Amino acid sequence: MTVMNIIKMGHPTLRQEAKPYPAEKIGSDEFNQLISDMRETMYSAGGIGLAAPQVDVPFQVAVIEVPEQTRYGNSSSLPFAAYVNPRITVLGDDEAGYWEGCLSVPGMMGYVERPQHIRVDYLDEQGNDQSIEVSGFLATVFQHEFDHLYGTLYVDRIKDTRLLMFEEEFREFHAGETPELE
Ligand code: ZN
Repeated sequence: MTVMNIIKMGHPTLRQEAKPYPAEKIGSDEFNQLISDMRETMYSAGGIGLAAPQVDVPFQVAVIEVPEQTRYGNSSSLPFAAYVNPRITVLGDDEAGYWEGCLSVPGMMGYVERPQHIRVDYLDEQGNDQSIEVSGFLATVFQHEFDHLYGTLYVDRIKDTRLLMFEEEFREFHAGETPELE
């Protein structure tokens, strides 16, 4: 396993639409290596998700693992899994905001509102069709990661840029706040 280099905001790969991963290559040595390297890289960086474009691999692949305790607070946990060629369907109108951070935008946090009930259709590590419904913080995590597959960063989705700040200042002045957005 190799810890890969995580590219940062400003690198052009983060702004490109990633290509669908070829289904016939799922399960190949190259694919398995990519997933295990992404897993190791995510753990090493202390993240809860990592999309392939963040390690300069322009394909629609992401890994997510959410423990009960994260730097974003307590949430529903989700075991490690890889998501290949995922598609999001929004189920319902309700949105909620969370403070988000990103391994490609280190040291910063921003408040983003997103739909809170979604379905995700994807291929798993074995190439099987899967479908799951998620809500709340987990719905935000999935949308954040899959945005990376389309060249979008969470900072693009911040409605009020006063709610973008350094993590240190966030901890000192704003931890626990839920801003009211119009
Ligand atoms: Zn990110």
